Amino acid sequence: MDFTKGQTDRLLASFDHGSPDECWTWERSFDRGGYGKFRLTDDLGVRRTLIAHRAVYHVIVGPIPDGMHLDHLCRNRACVNPRHLQPVTLEENTRRGVEARTHCGKGHEFTPENTGYGTRTTRGKKYPNVRYCKACAKAAQLRHQERKRAA
Ligand SMILES: [Zn+2]
Ligand SMILES: [Zn+2]
Repeated sequence: MDFTKGQTDRLLASFDHGSPDECWTWERSFDRGGYGKFRLTDDLGVRRTLIAHRAVYHVIVGPIPDGMHLDHLCRNRACVNPRHLQPVTLEENTRRGVEARTHCGKGHEFTPENTGYGTRTTRGKKYPNVRYCKACAKAAQLRHQERKRAA
């Protein structure tokens, strides 16, 4: 959708314009996920709540391609600086979120030595190049061997 001049002005007055490289912090309300919210009434008179960083990106950079999500390169959800936002597919965004974790579910650190990549099958779907914890993979292998020995 397109914003009216008044809506654009209000949107651009809703955050702290820092230097181009800094995070521009949203100063109005936030949703439960920590993302800024921008409320407006559209041309049809319907009240809508937009996600602030998407609205700012739309106004400053241009329309976000269909189906694309905006990934915060700075990992600061309150930030609406378009330079810190990159359109990515949902899959890519999810993958990056996982990659950003520094420890596996068992608490082993993902050091270069302890990180492997391989194909994982989840619910019949194959995902290539999935990161895994080598310590956990080794433990699983040991358990498997012990079970075999006990049998
Ligand atoms: Zn930022
Ligand atoms: Zn592990």
